[in-house]
Amino acid sequence: MCGGLARWLRVLGVDASYTPGIEDGELVRHAEAEGRIVLSSDGKLFERRGFTTRRVRGVRLPVGLKLLEQVGFVVRELAIRPAFPRCTLCNGVLQEVPRADVADVVPARSLIWKRDFYRCTDCQHVFWEGTHWRRIRAAEARVLGEVPDGPFVTAPGAKHDRAAPKTTAGPAESG
Ligand SMILES: [Zn+2]
Repeated sequence: MCGGLARWLRVLGVDASYTPGIEDGELVRHAEAEGRIVLSSDGKLFERRGFTTRRVRGVRLPVGLKLLEQVGFVVRELAIRPAFPRCTLCNGVLQEVPRADVADVVPARSLIWKRDFYRCTDCQHVFWEGTHWRRIRAAEARVLGEVPDGPFVTAPGAKHDRAAPKTTAGPAESG
């Protein structure tokens, strides 16, 4: 459940760490070491020392929310303003790459019609604006309560300069 939330937050440009099956103590240490906000619906987790001593900040997700409702809750709670997306697979930074560099991985049809291509600097996965992106943007607009103002657009040179909160997704209450 929280893995899906982490992917969504990455779409919104949030530095969202997620480690499936991470042990609670390890999660809290990781959050403290990297200055991350822990997101979880597990009330027990927030009784741990890091939280009670306020060294680590946590946001408790209400139980029973659907995924997009969770995203909306976190966006409001942390006052997140969407920024340039991060890699939804690994949370890496996306970098614009020339068409010629991705010709071997992008289908010919997309290569002809699409203008912007991005490669994850960590896992090397290639992304481009397509029907999948449009669906994501439409859902994002619903979450943010906005009307989409066009396709995946970026301002050159202004991609990563806005500090977004860093988060880490903890376990769900049901485990
Ligand atoms: Zn990646």
